[in-house]
Amino acid sequence: VKHYEAKNEPALEYTQGSKERKDVEAALSKFASDGTIKIPICIGDREIHLDGAKRQVAPFDHKRTLATFDYAPPALIQEAIDNCLEARERWEATPWEERAKVMLRAADMLAGPMRANIVAATMLGQAKTVYQAEIDAAAELIDFLRFNVGNMAKLAQYQPISTKTAENTMVYRGMEGFWAAVTPFNFTAIGGNLAASPAFAGNSTVWKPTDSALLSNYLAYKVLREAGLPPGVVNFVPADGPQFGAEITKRPELAGVNFTGSVPTFRSIWSGVAANLANYRTFPRLIGECGGKNFHFVHPSADLEQVANSTIRSAYEYSGQKCSACSRLYVPASMWPKLRDRLLELRASLKFGSPLDIGSTFSSAVIDDKAFRRVSGYASELPKSDSANLQLLGGGKCDDSVGYFVEPTIIETRDPRHRIMQEEIFGPVLAVYAYPDNQVDEALNLVDSTSPYALTGAVFSTDEEFVKLASRRLRQATGNFYINVQSTGSVVGQQPFGGARQSGTNDKAGGPHYLLKFLSPMAIKRAT
Ligand code: GLU
Repeated sequence: VKHYEAKNEPALEYTQGSKERKDVEAALSKFASDGTIKIPICIGDREIHLDGAKRQVAPFDHKRTLATFDYAPPALIQEAIDNCLEARERWEATPWEERAKVMLRAADMLAGPMRANIVAATMLGQAKTVYQAEIDAAAELIDFLRFNVGNMAKLAQYQPISTKTAENTMVYRGMEGFWAAVTPFNFTAIGGNLAASPAFAGNSTVWKPTDSALLSNYLAYKVLREAGLPPGVVNFVPADGPQFGAEITKRPELAGVNFTGSVPTFRSIWSGVAANLANYRTFPRLIGECGGKNFHFVHPSADLEQVANSTIRSAYEYSGQKCSACSRLYVPASMWPKLRDRLLELRASLKFGSPLDIGSTFSSAVIDDKAFRRVSGYASELPKSDSANLQLLGGGKCDDSVGYFVEPTIIETRDPRHRIMQEEIFGPVLAVYAYPDNQVDEALNLVDSTSPYALTGAVFSTDEEFVKLASRRLRQATGNFYINVQSTGSVVGQQPFGGARQSGTNDKAGGPHYLLKFLSPMAIKRAT
């Protein structure tokens, strides 16, 4: 592994009759015949079942219970931390090459025998189509694990220069204490990465998955363990969010929190850390990715068909529940009537329904009841209650009788600073503002100043001068900038992912420097 070079795992296509299609269908049938799965709290070698009072349901069929589980009470959260601290020392002293072997084995299991299973679990639990589940739970998670190893191999090759000494060296230690990974529903890969990266770096991690992704996340945890991760290096602890936050932040050994989720939750973690600041042995590192209000900006010179296709994909794939999804579109007024018709036409052709209709469903339900209420507020109620400023152009139907379905929706606003252009919706709702053609500059200002986020954004133009101008003007408006291509779909190693402002600490998951966040380097000088 010393010279390991990672390559991206190709995503499988699941065409009719393909082996992967048969495998995933078999895995889906097995989940159906096995019935409800009991998910334990995992601490060290123990799998703890309490009374199984909580349920994870299929978002597209909420009468179907996939799994039962319990929140770890405070005493068990504390036990999980203690157990991590015990496991840490041995693991940290293990050469990184050995730790790498575990991670590469896990990646190979995901690429091989476990692939269909984790893809199926992601389809069922998180309502992803097979292809969206594949690029997440298989390809991306595998990439995260392998690129970490490749990046560590490069870091380890670095040798500080030696001046008048026999030797200068640098060693990369894991940190003292424990890490916490607090992870979201929308990518199985993010859950796995947030827990596995600190662990690979030589830390131990308490992983708090989110309720709505438990099934796939539990499988990811099992893969790590079966690949040889020693007990206690990652403990899998479903828990109530605020309670978990309080339990980890009060411990003096907290080394860091690796977080993806909402701004309010990330703020409350910071507050918990601030309140305990004098007690920590080491200043905890807080890494957060917190969403966005991502834009597509169209210049009059843009290719209309390219804009239409990219925008539909970005706004509606996975029901707009990628942090990177486009949710505000700026279009020159002269182009808008044609683009509007094309968007509406494409939108009408999307089939949305159950992800189990492999091959035909484009997108499915939003994740849960809370998301349904929030998103339907934007898609259906807001245009009704604010008809002076908003016009519902397409979609807007919401129906939670079978699953949490919100139709892909397009809303036009006359007010470029309307809240629909500012707030993260995290659902299939696209807001559009048509700007006067002669006010490109003002419109760029709007992009930069309307929302508090800066995660992803795309500009569409065939005019190179404009592309240069926009790149300059939007320099701080986004962490991932796309030119003539949609704002979603970053690939590990190719587009390191993350944003600034309220979108987070921009530590770029999938990038070459990500691992440094979990390492505590020591520089050594040896006298002649
Ligand atoms: N990396 C994903 C993308 O570029 C988004 C990750 C997220 O939703 O946090 O689409």
